[in-house]
Amino acid sequence: MDLTQKIISLCKRRGFIFPSSEIYGGIGGVYDFGPLGVELKRNIKKVWWEVMMREENMIGLDSGILLNPRVWQASGHLTAGFADELVECKSCHKRFKADEVASNKCPECGVKLTKPRKFNLMMKTFVGPVEDESSTTYLRAETCQGIFVNFLNILNSMRLKVPFGVIQIGKTFRNEITTKNFIFRTREFEQMEMELFCHPKEADKLFDYWKEQRLKWYQNFGIKKENLRMKEVPKEERAHYAKRQIDIEYHFPFGWEEIEGIHNRGDFDLSNHAKHSGEDLKYFDEEKGEKFFPYIVETSVGVERPLFAFLAEAYQEVKGGRTKTTKAAKEVEVLLKLHKSLAPIKVAVLPLVRNKPELVKKAKEIYNLLRPHFTCQYDELGSIGRRYRRQDEIATIFCLTCDFQTLEDDTLTIRNRDTMAQERVKIKDLVNVLKEKLAN
Ligand code: ATP
Repeated sequence: MDLTQKIISLCKRRGFIFPSSEIYGGIGGVYDFGPLGVELKRNIKKVWWEVMMREENMIGLDSGILLNPRVWQASGHLTAGFADELVECKSCHKRFKADEVASNKCPECGVKLTKPRKFNLMMKTFVGPVEDESSTTYLRAETCQGIFVNFLNILNSMRLKVPFGVIQIGKTFRNEITTKNFIFRTREFEQMEMELFCHPKEADKLFDYWKEQRLKWYQNFGIKKENLRMKEVPKEERAHYAKRQIDIEYHFPFGWEEIEGIHNRGDFDLSNHAKHSGEDLKYFDEEKGEKFFPYIVETSVGVERPLFAFLAEAYQEVKGGRTKTTKAAKEVEVLLKLHKSLAPIKVAVLPLVRNKPELVKKAKEIYNLLRPHFTCQYDELGSIGRRYRRQDEIATIFCLTCDFQTLEDDTLTIRNRDTMAQERVKIKDLVNVLKEKLAN
C-alpha cells in the first residue's frame, strides 16, 4: 500500500474522513470530515487565523457563498479565465483535464481523444423560486471576491490606511473535470485567503514578505523544510489575474504539487469591479493627495491540502511495535505525530483495568475534570498497551492512566506520545500541568 492509501485507510477507520453520501455510492470529489477530521480541520483553521491576525492592520470577514452573478462577470470567471482544457475519449467518453494526459490517447482504453475545449469550472445554481436566466448564479469559486466587493464597506467602517489585509475562511466550489488523490483535488473545499491592499509601489516588497511568512507557517506546524519548495510561475501559466505568482509546492506522496498560491493581483480586481459596478473603488491618500487603485497581494490555500500534508508528514509506522514487547513484535504500530496544536484529541483518560469499579469511577471523575479544558477521550476497552496504540494512531498527545496507586495518593501517570516517557502528577495539578505542556 502506498502512503496515500494508508492515509485514506486510517482516515476512514479512525473517523477522520469519509467519502460523502457513501451509502448511495458517493458523489465524485466530495468528502465528509468525521469526528476527528473536523477537529483537525478546525485546528488548522484556528492556527492559520491566529497567525494571520497577529499582523498589523489585519481584519477578518465572512461573506456569502452566493454573490450577485455580475461579480463573476467582472472577475473574469465566466469567460475563458476560469476554464480548464477538457479532452474526451471518442470511445468510452471519459473526460480528462488536457494537461493531465500524456498523449492524445485515452489513458483508460487507448482510443483517440478529442481536441481540447474550454470547460468552465463554476457551479451553477438558481436564487429564488423561478429557475431562469435572470435567477442564475454560481457557488463561489474563490472566497476572495467577497472581500473585493466589500472593499468600500471595510474601508468606510474600519477607517484603515493601506497597507491593510482582510482574511476569510470559507467553502468554495469548483466543478473540476477530474478529481483524484483523495482530498487533494475536490469539487467542494474550504479556502483560507488573505487579500492585502497596498500601494502599487509596495506590492513587490509585501509579496516577498508574505511568501516567507507562509513558508514558515508550514514548517512551524510540522512540515519538513525539504518537503516544501517555491515555484515562480511563468507568465503563460499564471492565473488570469496574476502579475506575479509563486506556488508553494509540497512533496505529496504522489509527487510535488501546489499546496498554496501567492499572487500579486495588481489592480485587476478593484479596477474591474469599479468598471462593472460603476462605483469608485479607488483609495484616497489624504496626506499625499494621491488617488489610486490599491494593488492586492494574495495568499490562497485550501484547508484540505495542508491537512493532507500534515497527515502525510505525521504518519509513521513502527515495525515490531514501539514498546518492543514480544506480543507487539509481529505488529506494525502506527504513530501519527501531528503538531500538538493540530492533534484532534489532546488527552485520553484510561483506567488501568475496567473490572475494578473504584478505578473506573476515578478515571471518569478525571475525564469530567478535564473535559472543559481539553478535547478528551475516555477509553477502557482492551489492554492498556492496545489503548496506548489506539491513541498513538490518532495523534493524542497525552494518555493519562489511573492505576491502583491513584486510589491511594491521588496521582496518575501522564504518558507522552512521542517519547513514551511517563511521569506521575497529582490530580490537583493536572489541568495546569497539561495546559503548560500544551502551550506553544
Ligand atoms: P490547481 O492548479 O491545483 O488546480 P489552482 O491554481 O487552480 O490549483 P488557486 O486557484 O490558486 O488554485 O487556488 C488556491 C488554492 O486553493 C490552491 O493552492 C489549493 O490549496 C486550493 N485549491 C484549489 N483548487 C482546489 C481543489 N479543487 N481542491 C482542493 N483544494 C483546491
